[in-house]
Amino acid sequence: MTQGDDRPASRHLGLDLGGTNIKWVVVERAGETWRPIDQDQVPTPTRSEPDAVVARLASVGAEVIERHPDIVTVGIGIPGLYDPVAGTVRFLVNFPGAWAGRPVAGEVASALGLPVALLNDARAFGLAEHRLGAGRGASTMVGLTLGTGVGGCVVVDGRLLLGHDGTVGEIGHQTIEPDGPWCNCGNRGCLEAFARADQIAAACGTATAEEAVDRARAGNARAVDGLAQVGRYLGIAIGNTVAILAPDRVVIGGGIGAATDLLRGPIEAELRRRVTITSLDLVEIVPAELGTWGGAIGAAIHGAEAAADAAAPLAVADAAAHPAAGAASGAMPQAAAARTAGERP
Ligand SMILES: [Zn+2]
Repeated sequence: MTQGDDRPASRHLGLDLGGTNIKWVVVERAGETWRPIDQDQVPTPTRSEPDAVVARLASVGAEVIERHPDIVTVGIGIPGLYDPVAGTVRFLVNFPGAWAGRPVAGEVASALGLPVALLNDARAFGLAEHRLGAGRGASTMVGLTLGTGVGGCVVVDGRLLLGHDGTVGEIGHQTIEPDGPWCNCGNRGCLEAFARADQIAAACGTATAEEAVDRARAGNARAVDGLAQVGRYLGIAIGNTVAILAPDRVVIGGGIGAATDLLRGPIEAELRRRVTITSLDLVEIVPAELGTWGGAIGAAIHGAEAAADAAAPLAVADAAAHPAAGAASGAMPQAAAARTAGERP
């Protein structure tokens, strides 16, 4: 079971905060082998205000830990940006309320008595796909999620890149057209402004992106042309990342990721037109494998890896107030525990 690694198996909780549901997955780690062993989802509080959402994250975590008392770390995937050192949210897509600066990791850590790490949901998707999905074995992987927005991530030499603020891999917000349509981020002509779901629907003359994909599969000319246009923009964006990172695998997921077979032709045509500095024979473009649970799986993996990495930001519980935290933080590297000490009262 440990496949040549003598370390005992350990269990890690991943929470994926979505606008509709909070998904959770318990992942078992044995050496470098990751295996989901339990999963479910609960509705996100309809008010979606910070207090209600953070309380729900903590209560879901507590229920899962009651089922699996041997869980040692927690990761939370969020649909937005965060401050990894403070464990606070900077911005959440489609969540009303005063989220800027709202502590999340520290509060959930204190409630659960376990170390907690935050991660952007697209980075979580990519980490999961790299460790046990369509990115397995890739040296350098670029991940893209196509949905209401366009998310992304970068794995280099097997390591998910985060940068100083967790924003490495925002492939959807690279400029594709200098004077293109406005993007939700405030820039003009981002990839997302051309390839998010409502833009795919508009390009194909349909009500939704799903309908656009169905019509294209049925041979509808406008839908085929619309997807080809979206694929062209995706190809330009992926070509830019190939020029910078030379990935050997590009994994496409999200709600529209299932249409990768329809988009691959236009994407590859654009790559052939633009990329000359590295061999495209070594760049594989593949659909994601883990479906909608990838984000929760990746959050769990990130929590586990952050706890094992002395350089990773991680919120830890106040051991005095929550006795269970003593055992958990005792297993953490001293440097990680010391660096987050500033969060304690
Ligand atoms: Zn943008």
